[in-house]
Amino acid sequence: MTNCIFCDIAKGEIPSQKAYEDDLVYAFHDIRPLRPTHILVISKKHIASLAEVSAEDEAILGRILSISHKLAADHGSAEGFRAIINTGRIGGQEVPHLHLHILGGSEPVGAMVSKN
Ligand code: 5GP
Ligand code: ZN
Repeated sequence: MTNCIFCDIAKGEIPSQKAYEDDLVYAFHDIRPLRPTHILVISKKHIASLAEVSAEDEAILGRILSISHKLAADHGSAEGFRAIINTGRIGGQEVPHLHLHILGGSEPVGAMVSKN
């Protein structure tokens, strides 16, 4: 266990409903889904937020985005989805470990611009 809940989830030390895993990222279903499809994609490396990334993290950032459509399509949102990365206090980030929200389902996400 570490002091980061998402690091522990990525290592399997805290259970999660896994959606995908590869060498760089881990994806799982949000515990409080806001839409029928609500998946979080996290870096396996601990990166606190988009405010903390460096050039060496570009492969991780690319992977998070490049797998997003397949993940959405494989989990009930083939016609599109919304991708959100909350960053810092102003961005409404609650868990300080970089993660992409994939939000979707069978109906348009609509006017929602944030999770609040
Ligand atoms: P943030 O506000 O940091 O962008 O989003 C954090 C997200 O993580 C929230 O949507 C919240 O429901 C989700 N979350 C927090 N703790 C856990 C957990 O232990 N398991 C899962 N599956 N999701 C979590
Ligand atoms: Zn972490």
